[in-house]
Amino acid sequence: MTIKVTVRPYRRRFHQPLQTAHGVWTERAGALLQLRDDRGRVVYGEIAPIPWFGSETLEAALEFCQALAGTLAADEGIPARLPATQFAIGSALRQLDPSPRPPRGGGSRHTHSCFEPESLEPDVICGLLPAGEAMLGGWPPRVALGHRTLKWKIGVFPVAHELAWLDQLVNDLPSHCRLRLDANGGLTASEAAHWLEHCDRVNANPHSCTIEHLEQPLPPDQWPDLVRLSQRHNTAIALDESVATLPQLRACHRQGWTGVYVVKPAIAGSPQQLQDFCRQCSPPQLVFSSVFETRVGRQAALAVAAACYQGRSPIPALGFGTQGQFDDDWDIWPPSHIWNQLR
Ligand SMILES: [Mg+2]
Repeated sequence: MTIKVTVRPYRRRFHQPLQTAHGVWTERAGALLQLRDDRGRVVYGEIAPIPWFGSETLEAALEFCQALAGTLAADEGIPARLPATQFAIGSALRQLDPSPRPPRGGGSRHTHSCFEPESLEPDVICGLLPAGEAMLGGWPPRVALGHRTLKWKIGVFPVAHELAWLDQLVNDLPSHCRLRLDANGGLTASEAAHWLEHCDRVNANPHSCTIEHLEQPLPPDQWPDLVRLSQRHNTAIALDESVATLPQLRACHRQGWTGVYVVKPAIAGSPQQLQDFCRQCSPPQLVFSSVFETRVGRQAALAVAAACYQGRSPIPALGFGTQGQFDDDWDIWPPSHIWNQLR
């Protein structure tokens, strides 16, 4: 079977530039691809790279797509250096593939009893708070909306300021809420230890909210320190930048990481291989996360999450609280509408 492939790049501006320890993000650039098979069926995929997170650049992805010259073989090999492209093509192709792995019970093979990717309620999604002191005004509307888990980016302002804001948040937040702190690899080893001691004290208080984990306190190249920190503190450490792609995820699992793994399907590589990894290795603590993709990539990433969580319950909040962050209406448009807009 030969498949016709067309690619259209996009750019979306964030309402509010996103502040992380990596810097300020003002615009999300990516590409949609449309696949049309010889029976005339049309499906979409999305390339949503984050090069500073370990994926290819958009330019490298587009160069690969250009070299396809408009056609794709169903068994086309995509190099491992292009994980976001592997995801885009892999997730589009599986929509055309009518017969692999028939589902048990007759339902879609992507569904999960805990959530349907098409209709997610806020209580299963982690709400994203603004960085810095703005978080103090940011949590009430998110909790009112129904979010029970919230994420705050740290390592953006001086540690003493951020710890004081955290104390205020912990003091005000309902005790059934859960917090995720994300340092994006921006702390030093001693700062990270300081944060974790603070988190352990919060978590030792049965009347306060729970700090679920501290995400990527140190950069991926400081593996021995990450392991040491995880052994010395009760608060869990989640790896994110360290496990951006499937080979990195496999490597950390092989080295015996017992903490949380944050998985961003849209930059991890082949969706089928990611599902196979989850089935074979079943790492105990998996948190799935968005990369600010459009609804094309979002649906495909959530379908992978649903498949990986098959048979597990309860599941951690999904890191997909990324809707409504852009200056456009794409979150509610059907994929074909977004596609036509890019013409
Ligand atoms: Mg993170």
